[in-house]
Amino acid sequence: MESLRLKALDSLFANPVDVNVEGSTKITTIFGENVFTLKKARHYLSDEAYKSLVASINSGKKIDRSMGNQIASGIKAWAESRGVTHFTHWFQPLTGTTAEKHDSFFTIKGDGTPIEQFDGDALIQQEPDASSFPSGGLRATFEARGYTAWDPTSPAFIFEVGNGKTLCIPTIFVSYTGESLDAKTPLLRSLDALNKSAVAVAQYFDRNVSKVTATLGWEQEYFVIDAGLANSRPDLVLTGRTVFGHSSAKGQQLEDHYFGSIPERVYAFMRDFEEEAYKLGIPLRTRHNEVAPAQFECAPIFEEAGVAVDHNILLMDVMNRVAKRHKLAVLFHEKPFAGINGSGKHNNWSLSTDTGVNLLAPGKTPKTNLMFLTFFVNVIKAVHDYAPLLRASIASAGNDHRLGANEAPPAIISIFIGKFLTEVLQEIKERVGDNFTEQDEILLKLDIHKTIPELLLDNTDRNRTSPFAFTGNKFEFRAVGSSANCAIPMAVLNAIMAKTLDRFKEEVDGLIEKGEKKEVAIMEVIKKYIVDAEKVLFEGDGYSEEWHAEAARRGLPNLPTTPLALDAYVEEAALELFESLHILTHAESEARHEIMLESYIKRVQIEGRIMGELVTSHILPAAVKYQNVLIENIRGLKELGLSSETYANQLQILEKITKHINEGADLVEKMIQARKKANAVENTRDKAIAYCDEVKPYFDKIRYHVDKLELHIDDNFWPLPKYREMLFLR
Ligand code: ADP
Ligand code: MG
Repeated sequence: MESLRLKALDSLFANPVDVNVEGSTKITTIFGENVFTLKKARHYLSDEAYKSLVASINSGKKIDRSMGNQIASGIKAWAESRGVTHFTHWFQPLTGTTAEKHDSFFTIKGDGTPIEQFDGDALIQQEPDASSFPSGGLRATFEARGYTAWDPTSPAFIFEVGNGKTLCIPTIFVSYTGESLDAKTPLLRSLDALNKSAVAVAQYFDRNVSKVTATLGWEQEYFVIDAGLANSRPDLVLTGRTVFGHSSAKGQQLEDHYFGSIPERVYAFMRDFEEEAYKLGIPLRTRHNEVAPAQFECAPIFEEAGVAVDHNILLMDVMNRVAKRHKLAVLFHEKPFAGINGSGKHNNWSLSTDTGVNLLAPGKTPKTNLMFLTFFVNVIKAVHDYAPLLRASIASAGNDHRLGANEAPPAIISIFIGKFLTEVLQEIKERVGDNFTEQDEILLKLDIHKTIPELLLDNTDRNRTSPFAFTGNKFEFRAVGSSANCAIPMAVLNAIMAKTLDRFKEEVDGLIEKGEKKEVAIMEVIKKYIVDAEKVLFEGDGYSEEWHAEAARRGLPNLPTTPLALDAYVEEAALELFESLHILTHAESEARHEIMLESYIKRVQIEGRIMGELVTSHILPAAVKYQNVLIENIRGLKELGLSSETYANQLQILEKITKHINEGADLVEKMIQARKKANAVENTRDKAIAYCDEVKPYFDKIRYHVDKLELHIDDNFWPLPKYREMLFLR
C-alpha cells in the first residue's frame, strides 16, 4: 500500500485547492456582529439591567438574581435573533486550551410544555463535570465538582461552526471549595490588585485617576502547512512538532520568505479567519510572513488585558477551525521544525488610566514625565525582584525548545531599555540629591517630542534579542511561547507590578512623612530602585555566549529547563506575593505548580512514545526494505561474477544504513528503559526532572540516526513527509 506521505503528495498535486481571494467585506460592517457589546446590551436590556451590567463590568459590582434573569433573557433574545439554539459556558482550564459544554435553550416545563429558556442561573453559574480537568490535587477526582461562573468583563459571543451557532458565555472555572482551576481567575484578580496599587501611585500626579487597566497587544506567530502532509505525520498530530526530519536543503538562509509576498493559499486562509475574527470583535490589524518558511504572524490593536487574552485564545481556536476548511493545518507549537526559527507570542504590555493616559509613555511636561519615570522604573524593579517568577510564567515543554535556541531570547530574564533611557537613568543615579527640584532638567529632557524619535531610533534593532524590551510606550515580553495562554504571564506581570508599586508608595509616603517634598521623595525612591535593579538591564546581544557568562557574573538566574524554572511558583517570594494580593492562596499556587509539572511530564512522555513508535513501525520497516533492495542488488552483481568495485557504493550505503538502524534501535530501547525508570518516580517534581534529564537527552540522539536514514533511503520508501515538502509545498 502507498504510504500516507505519498498519498498526501498525490492529492496535493492532483487537487489544487480552490483559492478564492476575491470579494472583500468592509471590516466595519461586520466588526463585532457576533458579540453582545454594551451597545447591543443597551438595546436588549431595561435601563435598570443595563446599569447593573455596566456597574459590574466597571467596578465588579455583584449582579442580583432578578437582574441576572433580565440580562440572561436579553442575551437570549439577541442570540435567538441570530439563529442560536445552544449556549455554553466558555472557560480556560489549565490544560492550555478552552473548554465548553453545550446545552440547548430547549427545556420541558413541569406540565410537559416544551419551551426555550435561559435564565439568570444558567447565565451566572454552571457545574460542568470537572473531574477530567487538571486540579493539581485540589479536588479529589471522585468529588467531580467544580463550577463555572460568569465573567461579565468579557462580553458574550456567538461561535459559528459550520451551520451551528453557539452562544458562549465567558466564565471562570473554580473548584467547589472556591479555588481557581483556570488561567483566567488569577488574571482577573491580578488586574484588580494592579488597579488598586497603580491608582494609588498615579494619584501622586493626577487626582482624577480612578482606574488603571493593563493593556495587552499580542503578536501571534504560527506555521501553516498542507493538512494532508500534516496528517501524515503522527508526531505533528500528537505533539504539534516534528520529532524527526532532516533539514531541507533550503531553509531560511535566503531570507526570501520574510520579505516575500504571502502565498495565495495562505492568504485566502488569512482573509477567511480574519473575517471570523472581526465578527467576534477581535481587532486584528497586521498580518505578514515571518522569518522561517511557512511561518506567519498576526497582531491586533491592543485591548484591555482580560479581553485581549480571551481574544487570543479564541482566535487560535478560530484559526484551527478555519484552516480545516482550507485543507491547511496551523501549528502553534513553539518549535514545530528543528533547524529553523520557532514561534513566539510577544506580549506588548502597558498601563492605561481612565483619564486616557498611557503610564508608560513619556509625557510633555516635567510632571507627566515624573509619572512616566515612576512607572517605568517600577517595572524594572519588579522584573528584577521577581525574574525567576517571570521566567516560570513562560515555562513549558514547548518553549524549552525555543528559548535560547539562537533565534529567541535566552532563559535569562533581562530588560532592554535603549541607549537614551539608559543615559537618563545613569544621570538620575549620579545627580539626584538633596538639591533636586521638580523642574530638574532630567524631567525636561524626557519631553515626548524630543524623546520619542530617539526612543524609536534606539529600539529598531538590538532589542530583538531581549526577552523583555521597552519599545517606546510599552514593554514587550518577548519570551512568551506561541502556544501559551497569555493570561499566565500577564497575571504574573500585573502581580509583580502591583506589589512593587505598593512598596514604592510605602517608601515615598515614609519620606513625605519625614518632611520631604513629594516630588523629591519620589525621585529619591526612583534613584534607589535604579541602583537596586540595574543589574537586570542589558543592552547587548542576548543570543551571545558572552551574555551567558556576563549574566552569571551578575548573579542573574538562568533556568533553561521547565521543571526547575517552575520552582519559582512555590518559593516564598511568590507564595507571599500571590497570597498578599489575593491572587492565589498557597494551596492554589502549589496546585498550579503540580499541574504544570504534570503537563510537562505528559508532553515529554508522549513525545518519547511517539518517537519509539515511529522508529519501530515506520522508520525501521522502510530502512529494512531498502536494505533488502541493496542486498539483492549486491548479491546479483556478485552472482554475475563482477568485481567488488562494481558494488562498492551500494555496499557503503548498506553499511551506513545498517549502522543507523542498529544504533537508532538501540537508543530507542535505552530511552524506553529510561522512561520506565522515570515513571516509577513518585514525587512529581523529581519525575519531571527525570524526564528532562534522563529521557529527553535520547531524543536528539535518536533523531540523529533517523535523519541520517532519511538522507540515505530511497525517497519512495520514506514514510514521513519531508521538511522541504511541508515547508515549501502548498
Ligand atoms: P511593531 O512592533 O510592529 O512596530 P507596534 O509597536 O505599533 O508595532 O505594536 C506592536 C503591538 O503592540 C501591537 O499588537 C499593538 O497593538 C501593541 N501595542 C501598542 N501600544 C500598546 C499599548 N499601549 N499597550 C499594549 N499594547 C500595545
Ligand atoms: Mg513588536
